[in-house]
Amino acid sequence: MAVLTSYDPTSYHKVDGGEHIEAIAVGSVEITPIELLPAVINNAKVAQKAWASLPLIERQQYVVKAYQQLVAVQDELATLIGQEMGKDYRRATYEVGGTIQNAPYFASEISDALTTEQIDNRTELQYRPLGVVAVISPWNYPIAMANNLLMPALIAGNSVILKPSELTPLVAELFIKTLNKVLPEHVLQVVQGDKALGQALVAADINMVAFTGSMAAGKNIMANAASGLKRLVMELGGNDPLIVMASANIDSAVRFAVASSFENAGQMCTSTERVYVDERIAAEFEQKVVALASRYRVGAWDAANVNIGPIVNPAQHQKVLEQLQDAKAKGARLLLGSDDYPLPFIHPTVVTGITPDMLLEGEETFGPVVAISHFSDIDAAIGRANNSHYGLAAVVFGGQGAKAVAEQLEAGMVGVNQGAGAGNAPWVGAKQSGFGFHGTAAGHRQFAQVRVMNY
Ligand code: NAD
Repeated sequence: MAVLTSYDPTSYHKVDGGEHIEAIAVGSVEITPIELLPAVINNAKVAQKAWASLPLIERQQYVVKAYQQLVAVQDELATLIGQEMGKDYRRATYEVGGTIQNAPYFASEISDALTTEQIDNRTELQYRPLGVVAVISPWNYPIAMANNLLMPALIAGNSVILKPSELTPLVAELFIKTLNKVLPEHVLQVVQGDKALGQALVAADINMVAFTGSMAAGKNIMANAASGLKRLVMELGGNDPLIVMASANIDSAVRFAVASSFENAGQMCTSTERVYVDERIAAEFEQKVVALASRYRVGAWDAANVNIGPIVNPAQHQKVLEQLQDAKAKGARLLLGSDDYPLPFIHPTVVTGITPDMLLEGEETFGPVVAISHFSDIDAAIGRANNSHYGLAAVVFGGQGAKAVAEQLEAGMVGVNQGAGAGNAPWVGAKQSGFGFHGTAAGHRQFAQVRVMNY
């Protein structure tokens, strides 16, 4: 029986003079053989029929009760998140606890959105199940990202097959096992494996793919889903810009730039990836960014007062270093940190003088790096901010005129003097950061087929 093993990111280190990399295993799960997918899907189809026949309110109640079971394993889940992807215990507890506490509210909002609407006295708008939904999720918020997609899919009357990231299989196993203490059999299943299993699932006889992950994977999924015209929700990566105008409150802008670049060790889809600062305030801004960034504490998930955990694995660590080395070779200056950290951490790093030809500006970094560039002309800064295939979130700090600058930014979520995105708004990307979205009535309805009933 083939198994999938997850490794503690903090334990990665080089051995044999750098020839090999070793790490401590956290645990393993059985890999779902691709040949088994038809049986999994068949079970999902049978279960879906009975599930969909329940009244909406009953499905909502089932789901709320299932989420209540998570309270008993909250601590175990938070610990597994730390062990498998390195997030510190405080943040991991917040991720799990937030999911549990929000569940009843989220479930009732979904249920409201999917309630049949009377258009006139002879026409109804119904929100019908699609069938079997594959939820494919990433490792960086292993509970929250799966939850965002699987809860609306379930309450809409679909059965769900979750394919979690191969880096966080144990978190997913416990999450789904616990929900299944209440849910009817096979309404929610988990399959374990890597990209190949994800591809096979997308190509299989299912009705929808709800995906959170990288842009490259999203494009491949879209191609594989095309022949069956499967419904898609695509929450993809970002390369989010921050524009700091001369009129900005510099201290607030500094706090945001550092916090947003470093959150989750920079491994967040909406982390600030590029900072464009007006040259008139650039010196003060940079000096304050370096001072604040120096205070961030790096460490393992279970160390005290940690702000920045390890990078999830050696490949991702190497990618961040390559971006820093590329920037340095092309003329950027390191104001804090280095371009050559040993595994597993990237310490707080501040770089200035980034230019469009650098990987640091053109690509998603996914590491704790503040990457700064100066501007003298706001239109040029807006042009640089928009010069990306990505369009997830964007932020402007400034006084009067900041909103007018924000209006010109090509992103699904834009913040003025604060982070982009709000709890009561859709989570949505523009351009190649995705399409289809979750959150709010419009988001929840993407997990359903609209049926117009005239009678
Ligand atoms: P990833 O795309 O490598 O993997 C995500 C999931 O997709 C995993 O379960 C993986 O096994 C699977 N997968 C990979 N290629 C696939 C394919 N071709 N077909 C089917 N399944 C496939 O992403 P990751 O490294 O796990 O996560 C980081 C990425 O996710 C970043 O780009 C980040 O910005 C993005 N992200 C986006 C959001 C959002 O809300 N927009 C949220 C979190 C993360």
